[in-house]
Amino acid sequence: MRYDLHSHTTCSDGRLTPPELLDRAVEKQVDVFAITDHDTVNAIPIAREYIKEKQLDIELIGGVEISTRWTSFEIHIVGLKIDENDPELIKRLHSQIDYRNERAKEIGNRLEKAGIPDAYINAKRIAGDAAISRSHYAKYLIEIGKAKNFAGVFKKYMKRGKTGYVPSEWIDIKTAVQWIHDAGGIAIIAHPSRYDMTTKWLKRLLVDFKKAGGDGIEVALPQQTTQEREKLGQLCLDYELLASVGSDFHFPTNWSELGKNLYLSDKYLPVWHNW
Ligand code: AMP
Ligand code: MN
Ligand code: MN
Ligand code: MN
Repeated sequence: MRYDLHSHTTCSDGRLTPPELLDRAVEKQVDVFAITDHDTVNAIPIAREYIKEKQLDIELIGGVEISTRWTSFEIHIVGLKIDENDPELIKRLHSQIDYRNERAKEIGNRLEKAGIPDAYINAKRIAGDAAISRSHYAKYLIEIGKAKNFAGVFKKYMKRGKTGYVPSEWIDIKTAVQWIHDAGGIAIIAHPSRYDMTTKWLKRLLVDFKKAGGDGIEVALPQQTTQEREKLGQLCLDYELLASVGSDFHFPTNWSELGKNLYLSDKYLPVWHNW
């Protein structure tokens, strides 16, 4: 069975619509697939409808990726198996989206002061119906030649401490875990290696996450060394957490693909052990 439990659509900062993403997941032989857009579940009903209509041979897991603030870090918590129709969850996520839009304006102001006008309206244009994320700003900055690629633009403008970064007041981890559990889901720390933190800090994070009732962490991501994967697996064992796998796919590139390179050793208890 091939699992991929982290992906994005045009409902957040992904570039494929829910049907396009599903077609690609089927093509890449993913059996169990989660769509986990940033702070929204809008894609899930559309995706379910499409699966039914086309009778696709794929199991869709309702998911979401919630932005949180922990100390000075922004930590992403993935909710899996949430009920996407839960009115309370939808209401709660709306408060995150409102905050996202407020923050987006603030990012625009900062860039304006730094001599880059009209970034907000352009990020909004790129985002379309989705709430604006830093990736939409990044895409615009690349468009106008401020950097060559995403890595460059984040490093120069959008990362913590840079001009286009607003220290964000997201909800805390405990609240995110609560929202996910209230909607019937399990709570997973997304891409633990991507927070620019030392292992000592990562362990602190895991302690707090456990205290908050968190369930698991992502262990297998594409573009990761074997050592990195084993380190994260060991942390699952040490902290009694479940292991998840996900590509965090946003759009087709040479280095990221749905369902690819997500092998999980059977030493670890996978999030799907009781599904
Ligand atoms: P936001 O949720 O608005 O804070 O935007 C975060 C999003 O920006 C992530 O979900 C990624 O899609 C993207 N992102 C963050 N850091 C980087 C990076 N260093 N390189 C490329 N994309 C990034
Ligand atoms: Mn993203
Ligand atoms: Mn993320
Ligand atoms: Mn993601």
